[in-house]
Amino acid sequence: MSNELEHALAFGPSQGEGVAPSPSTPSPAGLPAGFLEELRQLYDDLGIELAKWGPVCALSGRCCRFHEFDHVLFLSEPEARFLASEAPAPLRPLDAGATCPWQDDRGRCQARQARPLGCRISFCDPSFQEAMPVVGEAFLKRLKALTMRYGLAWNYAPLHHQLRRLRDEGVVQLDLEEPRSPKPWVADHSAPSGLSA
Ligand code: SF4
Repeated sequence: MSNELEHALAFGPSQGEGVAPSPSTPSPAGLPAGFLEELRQLYDDLGIELAKWGPVCALSGRCCRFHEFDHVLFLSEPEARFLASEAPAPLRPLDAGATCPWQDDRGRCQARQARPLGCRISFCDPSFQEAMPVVGEAFLKRLKALTMRYGLAWNYAPLHHQLRRLRDEGVVQLDLEEPRSPKPWVADHSAPSGLSA
């Protein structure tokens, strides 16, 4: 497994009614419409590939509680821009890397349609552990090639680093305060879930 993976969410045309997306039309996230179209296709293809393997996600939400599971979610800059601009408003403040601001009180992801590759490929299902790096590597390679083809910055970095920068750019509205109360969830150490790595 590569270090990137190891350390490692559709919207329609929004550039105006009746205006067909074109590869050169910038999106609210600063990404070309053509790139976004291919990124969505990549995510769809990953979903199809995963369906072949059938990994089970018990929806424990454990993989999104990064510090609790000694784990860092890395993602590329274009994916971070897609997530920040396409996901609903974050539910919680951005902390120093312990949790994801899109995980709700029940441990569920509220940014599923915009979640990055790292979230999509990660499963605790023991039967998928061998295949996960293979599938992950293949799609990470494809994502990188796509990013390069459009001349976009790769900048693979932890989620909270990406979000702080995008918050400063005004791409996403985020409260940067540390959570004031204890974690609103109850840790579940008995079941699997969906990456971060
Ligand atoms: S799946 Fe990814 S985007 Fe969704 S809550 Fe978990 S870490 Fe955040």
